[in-house]
Amino acid sequence: MDQQTAPGILLDVRNCRQSYPKEANSELVVLDDVNVTLREGEIVGLLGRSGSGKSTLLRIIAGLLRPTRGDVSWKGAPVRGPVRGVAMVFQSFALFPWLTVQENVELGLEAQGVARREREERAEEAIDLIGLGGYDGAYPKELSGGMRQRVGLARALVTHPDLLLMDEPFSALDVLTAETLRTDLIDLWSEGKLPVKSILIVTHNIEEAVLMCDRILVFSSDPGRVAHELRVPFPHPRNRLDPAFRKMVD
Ligand code: ADP
Ligand code: MG
Repeated sequence: MDQQTAPGILLDVRNCRQSYPKEANSELVVLDDVNVTLREGEIVGLLGRSGSGKSTLLRIIAGLLRPTRGDVSWKGAPVRGPVRGVAMVFQSFALFPWLTVQENVELGLEAQGVARREREERAEEAIDLIGLGGYDGAYPKELSGGMRQRVGLARALVTHPDLLLMDEPFSALDVLTAETLRTDLIDLWSEGKLPVKSILIVTHNIEEAVLMCDRILVFSSDPGRVAHELRVPFPHPRNRLDPAFRKMVD
């Protein structure tokens, strides 16, 4: 079987290059020969310095940017535009200040043409899941940074995406708030309550990557490429909630 259609493979990035034109016939090569395969059931980290091309790669994966060279496929089919089944969480939350929590979260479903009643129900579900129950009618400016990012998460989760992309989701938060949100997210994942099949998280925080991810792709800069791949060994720090793991340590 061709690798791109092998079961469980969601996304395949092959030999991707991304360059931007610079003055005087030169180009800025941001990504060079990047290869990434993402499978169902895993959390993968993308660790790299600022400017190494991590956000550019996420935009390519989401189908928002066409790479200068190379192929991207989603469930075996070439990516030619925004990928349905992929949702994104941004560093700066990217909420609409004039919309309530409920309305911001429902936006995630509007593009999919989901009927109003179902939109409302699913938004409520996502809001409750992420710990914002009771804040449906609040506006972003009434919320703390951590709560705003929970809205950003709910807006992504409401679509039940196969792949959740997170671009430095905790870096705008203070350390304690970031840790609480990260722990809540890991707990939901470990309990099988997150309506996603796979997560790709961009970070420049090594500890965060080790605590959350099964695999870590270490990006080099100039140009950006996957220089190393690390596998976090079992027992994974994330699995402390797993009943099987608990039994082992008890
Ligand atoms: P990271 O997310 O790792 O910080 P980015 O993907 O945002 O990196 O950016 C990588 C490099 O590409 C940076 O040098 C940035 O200035 C440049 N870059 C990003 N987008 C564009 C663009 N649209 N046009 C020109 N240069 C860009
Ligand atoms: Mg970035």
